[in-house]
Amino acid sequence: MNNPVKTRFAPSPTGLMHFGNLRTALFNYLYAKCVGGSFLLRIEDTDINRSEKQYCDAILTDLHWLGIAWQEGPYYQSERQAIYDEYYQNLERNGRVYPCFCTEEQLAITRKVQLATGQPPRYPGTCRGLSNESIEFKKAQGLPFTLRFEVPKNEVVEFEDIIKGVQRFETDHIGDFIIRRNDGSASFMFCNAIDDALMGVTHALRGDDHLTNTPRQILILKALNLPIVCYGHFPTILGPDSRPLSKRNGSRSIQELREAGYLPLGILNYLSRLGHHDPDMHLLDCEALCQHFNLEHISHAPAHYDVAQLNYWQKEAMHQSTKEECWQLIMPYVAEWVPKSSALSFVEVVQPNLIMPTDATPWAKIIFGETLSYKEEVLEIMHAAKTEFFQTAIRLLEDPEMNFQLLVSRLQQETGRKGRDIFFPLRAALTAELHGPELAKMLDLMGIEKARTRLAKAAQYAESL
Ligand code: GLU
Repeated sequence: MNNPVKTRFAPSPTGLMHFGNLRTALFNYLYAKCVGGSFLLRIEDTDINRSEKQYCDAILTDLHWLGIAWQEGPYYQSERQAIYDEYYQNLERNGRVYPCFCTEEQLAITRKVQLATGQPPRYPGTCRGLSNESIEFKKAQGLPFTLRFEVPKNEVVEFEDIIKGVQRFETDHIGDFIIRRNDGSASFMFCNAIDDALMGVTHALRGDDHLTNTPRQILILKALNLPIVCYGHFPTILGPDSRPLSKRNGSRSIQELREAGYLPLGILNYLSRLGHHDPDMHLLDCEALCQHFNLEHISHAPAHYDVAQLNYWQKEAMHQSTKEECWQLIMPYVAEWVPKSSALSFVEVVQPNLIMPTDATPWAKIIFGETLSYKEEVLEIMHAAKTEFFQTAIRLLEDPEMNFQLLVSRLQQETGRKGRDIFFPLRAALTAELHGPELAKMLDLMGIEKARTRLAKAAQYAESL
């Protein structure tokens, strides 16, 4: 029987989660789920200068909030140093690594010279041939050193990328690379590969900014006789300006999106279609998103972040949330105006008009507040409708049996007007807006008294303009 699929999300907690890394998490999660496999979470926090506890916590909070659940972990690489040390010793015993005493400054100069002379920036192997005596002498002097993996010459690393197809890399183009920092901690290249093998990960889906790391990681795994996972690299997300998506071109953290009132399902529906083709444009729940996930539908071209698309899915999620959910979302922005007893009827009225929770605020003020402020175009509509129109409406509303439908048909009969010539001035008078939620429902909520006061005001404006 085949190995069951195991995927992972392996974030480095060096900042808040954004769309880029969330999409990586999502694709791994969806893939594992759609093939009946499992998904693990591993926090890659060996770089103590850049990793922060607050970001670890934020990653867990974001994933919980989005409903991306893992079956294993979270593992913390910072707790696994003893394991990495064993593998370093193995590589040392087998002569596959060497200590490198080059300083950051020296390396920077070498890189500069290489770039200036048109060569690719690559470690030139300065410390590769150091004699044992020289190494011992430098160590005795207390010089800090990293551990470099000695890349074999004249070989080809080939692997089948499950998204991009066969990839070939010549080892002569790969410089010896650092697998242990000078503080003894494991570099990303090393512990990421080792842990995939040790944790039984079968598939690693990640952005193609990691593609050139893969041959290096395969070399490490081969040297240690460890299993090699199936790698799949998908194009990273670009901003609207076609540069990598970042804060500068519109990316916002998941935390910011949550605070702004974005809904998990909207975000997940958007991201699962960003660089992954799904012709179904219905809002899907997590189960359905899994069933729709297909590695073959991952695009080979870069995906472009588009806030309009995000908002499209946000709108869908907002409209499909239950009344109670919707109320919880908008409550902080409307509780000041909406009486508790009208909460769910208010949701019923405004929900179809909402994208963000704050969109509810103006409607709460219009329906439950006392005063309206009229824009020029609204005043013009009232003026064109004429005083008499509003007076007729006021009179009709005196009838206790009157409702909106009836009001419209009686106005039609009495004024000879039709359609928009009735609705526009009524909406203008009652809400000081020309568009918005269903007027009949808003009238129910604001009550006849308030409606009559507003119509009287409109009658005055119509006369005085
Ligand atoms: N810690 C790496 C990152 O956040 C993981 C890369 C991978 O998925 O292999 O980019």
